[in-house]
Amino acid sequence: MYDRERIFLSSPHMSGYEQQYINDAFEKNWIAPLGENVDHFESEVAEYVCCKGAVALSSGTAAIHLALILLGVERDDIVFCSSLTFIASANPILYQGATPVFIDSEPESWNMSPAALERALKEYSAKGNLPKAVIVVNLYGQSADYDEIKKLCDYYGVPIVEDAAESLGATYKGKKSGTLGKFGIFSFNGNKIITTSGGGMLISDDIEKLEKARFYATQARDQAIHYQHSQLGYNYRLSNVLAGIGRGQLRVLDARVSKKREIFNIYKQQLSDIEGIQFMPEATYGQTTRWLTAMTIDPQKIAVNHADFVGYLNQYNIESRPVWKPLHLQPLFKDTDYYYHDEDVSACLFHQGLCLPSDTKMTVETQLDVIKRLRDILK
Ligand SMILES: *Cc1c(COP(=O)(O)O)cnc(C)c1O
Repeated sequence: MYDRERIFLSSPHMSGYEQQYINDAFEKNWIAPLGENVDHFESEVAEYVCCKGAVALSSGTAAIHLALILLGVERDDIVFCSSLTFIASANPILYQGATPVFIDSEPESWNMSPAALERALKEYSAKGNLPKAVIVVNLYGQSADYDEIKKLCDYYGVPIVEDAAESLGATYKGKKSGTLGKFGIFSFNGNKIITTSGGGMLISDDIEKLEKARFYATQARDQAIHYQHSQLGYNYRLSNVLAGIGRGQLRVLDARVSKKREIFNIYKQQLSDIEGIQFMPEATYGQTTRWLTAMTIDPQKIAVNHADFVGYLNQYNIESRPVWKPLHLQPLFKDTDYYYHDEDVSACLFHQGLCLPSDTKMTVETQLDVIKRLRDILK
């Protein structure tokens, strides 16, 4: 192995503020159930993104699952979802026994194409089978184009779940990412821009619905002195210790966003003379966090396949990955309906797209070494 610590796409980066919140929980001997760190983490996130409430959960996946439950998604319902994303965006649709329909990306933002969405809504409306929800994903730190998407969803009366797992800290027309739909979700998984080692959050302006989320997330326990249950519940809440990590991380979120954007700028500056590569564009309507720097390689100009690229960098202990394999191409979803406009953009991005190390612990010096290896393989 190359004589250097591994350089990751994105890995946990502690701020130093976490320990005081964790210690506080230990000093009060209150690591569970729930507790002050959980309450504060929820209100601090809600305040950061300017929404009315938040519920801290064990994962982003749990947050998507609860959002679907709160929107009444049941067996045999339809739910639309972006195709170019991590599988966690869509798995909760299956948890509910509902049927996903995947929507393609637009080239401008790599996120859900309003034109493809419109076609799908039209067709499903004609069949009298409108989706119960549309899960819109913000890819690699960039917001989707919500004004266009919302116009369509409002017209057909379909609520939006904003999967902002990768875009905490980004903006859309001045609003914070995560606040554009009926529900927003964040992830604090180890690879996200801030982490609790594992965790998630459901946010909304609908306080009543969030109360309901708390109920479902704690085994749906009815009001009674004994254990009484009339609905199906889950064990989805976040630990008070992990919420303490989240509070310490939240204090450096803006600094992490700046660093991620700086990492992107250095890649762009140092590689833009290479013909045949293009970086994921930043849409004009907002600021992306550049959670991961992603780029495409034109196969006509650069003859290097994904396996060679990833394998070459791996020799130098550098992690890289192809962009998400679209869900409509996953074996799990092989019979699933899929909508695109003109051409299959997400499939093309998958075949040409790569994610570069975007770890905020990476020094400029280390990044320049990564860039040296990139130039070698891209030549
Ligand atoms: C990470 C991620 C999730 C899932 O979050 P977990 O906290 O890992 O459950 C969902 N959607 C997207 C787009 C993600 O990147």
